[in-house]
Amino acid sequence: MDNVEQRAKELLAQMTLAEKIGQTVQYGRCEERELKMVAEGKIGSLLNVHGPKKINELQRLAVEETRLGIPLLIGDDVIHGFRTIFPIPLGEAASWDLEGMEKNARIAAEEAAAEGIRWTFAPMVDVTRDPRWGRIAESTGEDAYLSSLAAAAKVRGFQSPNGDGNPTVAACVKHFAGYGWIEGGRDYDTTDMSERTLRETVLPPFEHGIRAGALSVMSAFSELNGVPASGSRYLLRDILKREWGFDGMVVSDWESIEELIYHGYAEDRKDSARKGLNAGVDMDMHSGVYLDHLEALVLDNPELLQLLDDAVLRILRVKIRLGLFENPYVMEEGEEAGDLPKGRAIPAAHLAQARDSARKSIVLLQNRGGLLPLDTAKHKKLALIGPLADGRHNSMGCWAWKGRDEDVVTVRDAFQSEIAPKAEVFYEQGSGILEELDGGVDRAVQLAKQCDVAVVVVGESEAMTGEHYNVTSITLPPCQEHLILELKRQTDTPIVAVLMNGRPLATPWLHEHADAVVEAWHLGTATGLALVDVLTGAYNPSGRLPVTVPRATGQIPMYYNRKNTGRPHLYEDYIDCDDSPLYPFGYGLSYTTFEYTDLQLDRHQIGREKSVRVSVSITNTGSRAGEETAQLYIRDLVASSTRPVKELKGFSKVRLQPGESREVHFMLGREELGLLDERLEFTVEPGKFHVWVGPHSEEGLQAELEVVE
Ligand code: BGC
Repeated sequence: MDNVEQRAKELLAQMTLAEKIGQTVQYGRCEERELKMVAEGKIGSLLNVHGPKKINELQRLAVEETRLGIPLLIGDDVIHGFRTIFPIPLGEAASWDLEGMEKNARIAAEEAAAEGIRWTFAPMVDVTRDPRWGRIAESTGEDAYLSSLAAAAKVRGFQSPNGDGNPTVAACVKHFAGYGWIEGGRDYDTTDMSERTLRETVLPPFEHGIRAGALSVMSAFSELNGVPASGSRYLLRDILKREWGFDGMVVSDWESIEELIYHGYAEDRKDSARKGLNAGVDMDMHSGVYLDHLEALVLDNPELLQLLDDAVLRILRVKIRLGLFENPYVMEEGEEAGDLPKGRAIPAAHLAQARDSARKSIVLLQNRGGLLPLDTAKHKKLALIGPLADGRHNSMGCWAWKGRDEDVVTVRDAFQSEIAPKAEVFYEQGSGILEELDGGVDRAVQLAKQCDVAVVVVGESEAMTGEHYNVTSITLPPCQEHLILELKRQTDTPIVAVLMNGRPLATPWLHEHADAVVEAWHLGTATGLALVDVLTGAYNPSGRLPVTVPRATGQIPMYYNRKNTGRPHLYEDYIDCDDSPLYPFGYGLSYTTFEYTDLQLDRHQIGREKSVRVSVSITNTGSRAGEETAQLYIRDLVASSTRPVKELKGFSKVRLQPGESREVHFMLGREELGLLDERLEFTVEPGKFHVWVGPHSEEGLQAELEVVE
C-alpha cells in the first residue's frame, strides 16, 4: 500500500457515516446554509466560490471546526484560462500544438491555484461531429486521435507539479461519456451509438486523459443507449473503474444524479441517490440527493456501505494527492486573487504565451492573389469593419468568467497600436452581431471605398456558443451577410474576412466574396495582437482545422473519417448541394508553400506485432519561413469490420526556412494498425493498408503496406 492509500484508509476508518456522506456532497453556491454545513462537515467540495479570502475562510471552517479537519476541495470551470484567457479549446486544437496546450493549461492552473481553486472541470474531451451543438467550442473537434493527444497534454498541464511537488490543480476529464454525440445538436439530448463507435471514437480521449494521470472524471448529463450516463454502472464501474483501473474520483455533472428522475430512470430523489452511488458516481454536484438520502439508504441497505466507502476513499485520495491536508490555505494578497490582485496586470510571460497560442490557433483558409500579408507600403489606408472588430468580451469566448474585459486587446486596439504608426487605420462597426445598425452598412461602404483594403471581422458572440447555445443553422447572421455582400457589391476594395466563432461556419458565399478568409475562433486575451501578427506576416499562419467545415448545415454530420458505402461512386448524393466539405479536416494555408516528396516505408510488409517507420521529405518552396503540420493517415483496405476511408494516426510540426528540406518520421505499429474485431476485441489483422502523409485529410503522398501473419 502506498502512502496515499494508507492515509486515505486510516482516515476512512475513523469516519462516521455522516462524515463519510459529507465528503460526497458538493455545492455550487455558498450562502449561510452552506457555510454552516461546511463547519458541520456536511460538505466535501464547493464550486463557484471566489477569492482567496473567501476560500481561506471556508477552509478554516473545514479544517478547524470539523472533527477530522478534512479540507475542502474547491473546484471550478477553468476551461481555457483563468485570468489570462487562451483560445477556446476548438481554436487551441487548431494549433495542433500539444506543448502549447500543456503550457496554457499549466498557466491556467497556476492562476487558479493562486486563488485557492485546486480542481478544474476540464479538459472536456467529448469528440463531436455536430457543430450545431454550442459546446463544440469546448471540444478539440471531430477526431479521436487528435482529441486523445490533446486530452493527455491538458491533463499534464493542469496537473503539473506546484512548488510542493503536488499537482497544481486536479484535472477532470468530462463528460463521461457520449455527451458530444447528442441528437440534433440539442444540448443534453439523448445519445445513441453502437458499442463500436463508443469504443473507437468516443472513449479513447477519456482513456488517454486517465492514462496521463487525470485525478477525476465527470459523468455526463446525457443518456447513452438507454441508460443515463450518471446512472450507468456499465460506464462508470465496468469500463472506467474496472477495465481501465481508474482510482480517482467521479463527480456528477450539475444535478445530473437528481436528473435521473426526469430521464425516467429513478422514481424520486432517494432512488436517484441510490442509483447514482450504485453506478459509481462518487460526488454529487449540487443536487443534494446524497446529503438528503444516503444515510437512510445505507442504514436500510448495509451492502451500500462498501460503495460509499469506496466513493469516500476516492475523494480522499484526490485531496491527499493535492497536498490539501498539508496546505489547505492560499496566500492572501490585496483583496482579490493571491497572484493577481485587482488592478495588477497579467504577468508578461502569461500574456506572451496567450499571444503565441492565439496566433498558432489562427487558420488561413483562403488568400486569393496573395492579398495577405498586408503590406503597409501598398495598403496605406486600412478600413477595419465589423461587429467583432472591437469585441472585448466576445473575443474571449465561452467559459471565460474570470477573464476581464479590460485585459483584452481587441483587433481595433491592436490595429491602433501596431499598424496605425505605419498606415492609416479607420474603423466602422458596420453591423451588430445579430441586428443591423442604422446606416451602418452605408458608412462601412463609404469607408471601404476610400481605403486600399477592408478587414471585416464577423462571427458569433461569446453567448452564441458554449453550453446550451445550439443553432439550427451554422452560418453568419443575416445582418453580417448583408454587410459583406454590400461591401462586395458597392466597392472594388479587396476584402479580408476574419471569422471569430465557436463552431465551423458553413458560409460558401463568404469565401466567394472575400479575397482572404482567416478563421480566428475566439482567441482570448491576446486576440488583436495575434491577429495583427498573422495579418501583417509577423507570424506566418500555421493553424490547421480540427473539424471539417461543411458547405451547408444539412450536411451534418460531416467528418473526414467516414466509411465508404457499397456505392462509393454515388457518394455525391445531395441534389441541391455539392457534397464535399467547404474545407476538409486538417486544412490550413501558409504564406509560404511546402512540397512533400519521397514518402518511404522502411518495409512494405510487416508481421502483426511489428512496426514500420514512415518518412517523408518536406521542403519549404516559398520565400518565407513557416511551419507545416505533416499529417499521417491510414486506411485498412479490407478487414473483418468496415474501416474508415481515412484515419489520422500521426502528425508532426516542422518549421522550415525558405528552401530548407527536412525529413519527418512516424512509426506505425500495433496500436495504429489494429482494430476492434467483430467481438470488439483489439486485434491486428493481416491485410493491405494505404498510408498517406500530406498537408491535410484530402491530400498526400500514398504508399502501400501489408501486414502479414
Ligand atoms: C456543465 C459542466 C460544468 C458544470 C459546473 C455544467 O452545467 O455541463 O461542464 O463543469 O456545469 O459548472
